[in-house]
Amino acid sequence: MFNRAVALMDLSPGLEEKIRVCNSTYTVRFGVRLRGQIHTFTGYRSVHSEHMEPVKGGIRYALAVNQDEVEALAALMTYKCALVEVPFGGSKGGLCIDPRQYEEHELELITRRFAYELAKRDLINPAQNVPAPDMGTGEREMAWIADQYARMNTADINARACVTGKPPHAGGIQGRVEATGRGVQYALREFFRHPEDVAKAGLSGKLDGKRVIVQGLGNVGYHAAKFLSEEDGCRITGIVEHDGALHSETGLDVEAVRAWIQRHGGVSGFADATYVAEGASLLEAECDILIPAALEGVINLGNAERIRAPLIMEAANGPVTSGADEVLRARGTVIIPDLYANAGGVTVSYFEWVKNLSHIRFGRMQRRQEEARHQLVVDELERLSADTGIGWTLSPGFKEKYLRGADELELVRSGLDDTMRTAYQSMREVWHGRDDVQDLRVAAYIVAIGRVAKSYKAKGL
Ligand code: GLU
Repeated sequence: MFNRAVALMDLSPGLEEKIRVCNSTYTVRFGVRLRGQIHTFTGYRSVHSEHMEPVKGGIRYALAVNQDEVEALAALMTYKCALVEVPFGGSKGGLCIDPRQYEEHELELITRRFAYELAKRDLINPAQNVPAPDMGTGEREMAWIADQYARMNTADINARACVTGKPPHAGGIQGRVEATGRGVQYALREFFRHPEDVAKAGLSGKLDGKRVIVQGLGNVGYHAAKFLSEEDGCRITGIVEHDGALHSETGLDVEAVRAWIQRHGGVSGFADATYVAEGASLLEAECDILIPAALEGVINLGNAERIRAPLIMEAANGPVTSGADEVLRARGTVIIPDLYANAGGVTVSYFEWVKNLSHIRFGRMQRRQEEARHQLVVDELERLSADTGIGWTLSPGFKEKYLRGADELELVRSGLDDTMRTAYQSMREVWHGRDDVQDLRVAAYIVAIGRVAKSYKAKGL
């Protein structure tokens, strides 16, 4: 995918190779005493590009974690951050572990030890390398990492900025948990603001009423499905999970499915839908938008020919293999690429990092001042209406909505929405503006690589 984009770019000799390679990968094997014996774990932290620091990217807990995967995901972080103008280089970490096999206190010991190994090599550091959640990790793990770092750096006033995705009571920010799903929603809204783009996918109209199949009801898939169905009128006609899939043409109740999975560990047995045991086959069902939101490589040469969705939204990292991408492109399927589609997470991570460094909640200084100024306008309107005898009345609800100053969550959403819209437009300009660019992925890579190249140039490389 990188190669396809650089072939269309005019980079200075040798720069292409410099950008492509992963700068460094650290492998660590450490022991933790659990259940009366020492268990050895293997973890990685890979830094793809330090053209901007800190470098940024999640830490994944999964048995399948390996060096190649971590490096590829680190590279994706570089391009993702460049595309959405988040001032970070790209990094990624992983630990080979099945977190479900361990008790909470065991996971804490393992996480703290891993964090210790990374922090002592500056692979966790507010100025150099800032991890975040990824598959298999969440707020809980980030809070342990932040605390571990703070214990090792007792005088670092910016210690909290060493990791993002922390719970709000431990230095996190409102809206981070759902940020990637929210970003998916904002990205789709922006796509549907451009009728020409929608037509390229063979679709028409608005998001309202579109049939959506979501693969993976984890943090990203759940929030995307929830927001799209509750706020944009989409019908979630399919949910694919590890133990099968649910199908319903009238639309699934996302909250009910989520609650069912939490209670029963999977989707099978859920009453208000058709259960499909061969879950992956639902990826091939007819729908308007397919949202792979879980693993890599789920759309591959084995099923690409049979995918019927005209629009694929890559909420996961790398859900479409490059072979499948080729097949789908030839068939005219529009793919909104991962480096854009799931960038909402790292965008809100950036806001969290800035909040930690500024040591103040967004909106704390302005909120009441904003309310007071709005109150002036409302008072004046009411006075005019009374004094002139025109008898205007404000529409119901207007006053409450207008008078309320923005809190942190609203500011986070506004910043995320702006980021997703601006990034889409920069991608779109290349997509429509160049005859040699046929798809959004190449457009996204051209924008991202161009920006990385510019910062290398500015550094004198
Ligand atoms: N793991 C997420 C991603 O793949 C978030 C990274 C971050 O917030 O730094 O984009």
